[in-house]
Amino acid sequence: MSPNESQVQARQALKNLKPYSPGKPTWEVQQELGIEKVVKLASNENPLGASPKAVEALLAYLPEIHRYPDAATKGLNEAIAAQLNLQSDQLIVTNGADELIKLVAEAYLDKGDEIVIPHPTFSEYEFGGHLMGATPVLVSFDDQFRYDVDRLLAAVTERTKIVYLCSPNNPTGTYLPKADLQRLLDRLPKRVLVMFDAAYSHYASAEDYSDGLEYVRQGYPVIVLQTFSKIYGLAGIRVGFGAASPDIIRTILQVKEPFNVNALAQAAATAAITDTEHVQKSRKVNEEGREQLYEAFRRLGLKFTESMSNFILLELGPDAGNLYQRLMAQGVIVRYGTGWGLPEHIRVTVGTREENEFLIECLESLLVQQA
Ligand SMILES: *Cc1c(COP(=O)(O)O)cnc(C)c1O
Repeated sequence: MSPNESQVQARQALKNLKPYSPGKPTWEVQQELGIEKVVKLASNENPLGASPKAVEALLAYLPEIHRYPDAATKGLNEAIAAQLNLQSDQLIVTNGADELIKLVAEAYLDKGDEIVIPHPTFSEYEFGGHLMGATPVLVSFDDQFRYDVDRLLAAVTERTKIVYLCSPNNPTGTYLPKADLQRLLDRLPKRVLVMFDAAYSHYASAEDYSDGLEYVRQGYPVIVLQTFSKIYGLAGIRVGFGAASPDIIRTILQVKEPFNVNALAQAAATAAITDTEHVQKSRKVNEEGREQLYEAFRRLGLKFTESMSNFILLELGPDAGNLYQRLMAQGVIVRYGTGWGLPEHIRVTVGTREENEFLIECLESLLVQQA
């Protein structure tokens, strides 16, 4: 052992944690490859940028940043409650929705508890579970990445504490139709908490989509996760929230740090939640972008999963890893699927028309070279 290596033992649970691998930032690719034009379609950010109302609110707030933020996020809670037809005590605001996932794990999971997680999905659910010494039970989607409610129900045991659902699911873009969600909720024991991740709900255009909030209003043991990082365009400032019954919220508040959400994030999110114009515009650009990409992928003979979200899972075959690297070398950052156990897939975020066009051109040139 080197003299600098610590002999202090970390918790056993840490051995199970896999580090999160984020999308590569634009500046890093610019520096590494020495190229100027880089298009990032890797982290499902809003290509139109932040809500302009949020930016305005941020700037107006700057002279006040020497003050601690409101620990109870009262103004933001009220703004969200009004927008979503909920009560303030049905809400908890967090430092990005990632924090909510961790807080829920800390509030509810004991060592040995089981958590049911669809696979492949957002990695943070498993992270929270491992952190608390809980056992993740992974349940596969069907061969078209659709939810299989019976499979999920079959995975539930006496030890199950939380069932995680992500709809639309990251990285597949598939969703859980309302009738299936209803059936699942009615069959699950009421001692099981359902964490319903609706980070991409604004992009879902299917008629039978549910964002889960109606089940919160009806009193089911459901917590709906929302974020300001995606359609609201505030990923860099870290703010998200959970909606659930007041007793679930009170439980989670017990493990929250007092000043978890900074004052600028509160100001920005309070403005963004009422900016319906920005949301509508973002949704429209995304729908057009999805069509533009579908059309190109069909033309190129590529298999993809139809998406209810702002990203598309694309099947590129055994050469996917290589294509991912070569796309990057041309200045297009996408996400390689291997972290989800999908080594033949990439996930591309829907960008602006120009960004999508650049991706299509680069991909086409690589496929032509390959043929
Ligand atoms: C982006 C994302 C979140 C939350 O992101 P934050 O930036 O932490 O608010 C949650 N769930 C899914 C599935 C996501 O893709």
